[in-house]
Amino acid sequence: MSIPIPRRQLFIDGEWREPVNRKRLSVTNPATEEIIGDIPAATSEDVNIAVEAARRALSRNGGKDWASATGAHRAKYLRAIAAKVTERKSELAKLESLDSGKPLDEAAWDIDDVAGCFEYYADIAEALDKKQKSPVALPMNTFKCHVIREPIGVVGLITPWNYPMLMATWKVAPALAAGCAAILKPSELASITCLELADVCREVGLPPGVLNVLTGLGPEAGAPLASHPHVDKIAFTGSTATGSKIMTAAAQLVKPVTLELGGKSPIVVFEDVDLDKAAEWTAFGCFWTNGQICSATSRLIVHESIAAAFLEKLVTWCENIKVSNPLEEGCRLGPVVSAGQYEKVLKCISIAKEEGATILYGGSRPQHLKKGYFVLPTIITDVKTSMHIWREEVFGPVLCVKTFATEEEAIELANDTQYGLGSAVLSKDLERCERLTKAIQSGIVWVNCSQPCFSQAPWGGRKRSGFGRELGEWGLDNYLNVKQVTQYISDEPW
Ligand code: NAD
Repeated sequence: MSIPIPRRQLFIDGEWREPVNRKRLSVTNPATEEIIGDIPAATSEDVNIAVEAARRALSRNGGKDWASATGAHRAKYLRAIAAKVTERKSELAKLESLDSGKPLDEAAWDIDDVAGCFEYYADIAEALDKKQKSPVALPMNTFKCHVIREPIGVVGLITPWNYPMLMATWKVAPALAAGCAAILKPSELASITCLELADVCREVGLPPGVLNVLTGLGPEAGAPLASHPHVDKIAFTGSTATGSKIMTAAAQLVKPVTLELGGKSPIVVFEDVDLDKAAEWTAFGCFWTNGQICSATSRLIVHESIAAAFLEKLVTWCENIKVSNPLEEGCRLGPVVSAGQYEKVLKCISIAKEEGATILYGGSRPQHLKKGYFVLPTIITDVKTSMHIWREEVFGPVLCVKTFATEEEAIELANDTQYGLGSAVLSKDLERCERLTKAIQSGIVWVNCSQPCFSQAPWGGRKRSGFGRELGEWGLDNYLNVKQVTQYISDEPW
């Protein structure tokens, strides 16, 4: 079932190009700990070359090839990318699974979402043509005003490893729809499918320099991109710590940034739920993609009257899922992405124990898997709000639990976090859900579900989960400048 990892170079100006310093980074399969390939390691010199290529792409043929072409023209490329991704779905899903450790069928959903997102932004690019020169009503008829929307320019897109190709697509698709030229810097821990995205763009004949892909380390390739004076905007998804560094670098040049950062999202389960369905959503919300989801609902806040029965259901769920090599049929939980992430997750669990919490289930690697960065789904009870496990993002399959007695207490617990990305409320009482929807401080609220995500709906957080919104039409706005054009139209002197 395994396939070889293509050996690629950096993708700059429509061509494969060896990094200036010729360095490469090895790629490890997190399920076997074997080295399965390598990726080029870009440095600031490659960043400079890519930025020049991107700037040329914007101005080539007077901009008519890309930046000032119609949205409909760009939409054709976006649809061709979507079609090619779909054609290569099986291969791309396998590469994603080998590189990141996610179960193969989850990787296949991601590839479907990648194609869907390019399709969606093709529609949005076409719709942009109709929004150009939209009039603005003024209070006096001696002037007339309209607005034009222009691509922001060259954009740097820095992305994480948990959804390697999909997180890149959330940025690349709207950036290209808007008419920007992009430089993508994927995570060094999972870059393979982003290099394949470059190959897809090459195959469909995307104009040179419109998308450039620079793999490499954060400080060596990401930092020079964030601080480059000719990069007009940075869109970043990753940890809050790195987001803060990016914002600092961008601030030096007053460069706009959008930041999609970490989370510690709550799931509030009321006493009136169907226990089986609620357990399924709770498990899915925390353990899907091994809990390596920024919006993972990893803090369970459950009504005290059902807590015992509910936890029993969750434990049964954990006992019954298949933890295995992600390429195996029926796998629900693969390894976490890297040795470093494995150590981090186990460290969080051990701090929880030291601080007096109880490991109700899991807490270690599964006995039957001797190799690979596997961690059992883990449920932690007897949690206090002062504990590390309640406050800090684990980014692994770890659920911590607290009970509540009143709705007010549930809201207080839900908001007891520095983060504000996702949240979920499970109850049959929809008025109660509505009250919680308003009271919880997060960018996304799921009612009677957790984690569904659609290209059409805005995605992003508040508090230390960052700011700005991706996806939907909000995602396009990230890559546009709005220009006001006001004309004096009276014959009378002003
Ligand atoms: P990370 O911050 O370590 O790395 C993210 C990217 O930044 C990588 O490409 C990395 O190479 C690069 N980078 C690292 N240091 C840099 C620097 N100094 N300058 C510029 N770039 C640098 O994050 P990660 O471990 O890859 O991803 C996990 C984090 O991402 C979690 O905190 C998770 O919550 C967050 N995340 C958020 C969302 C969201 O939508 N809010 C989505 C997915 C992941």
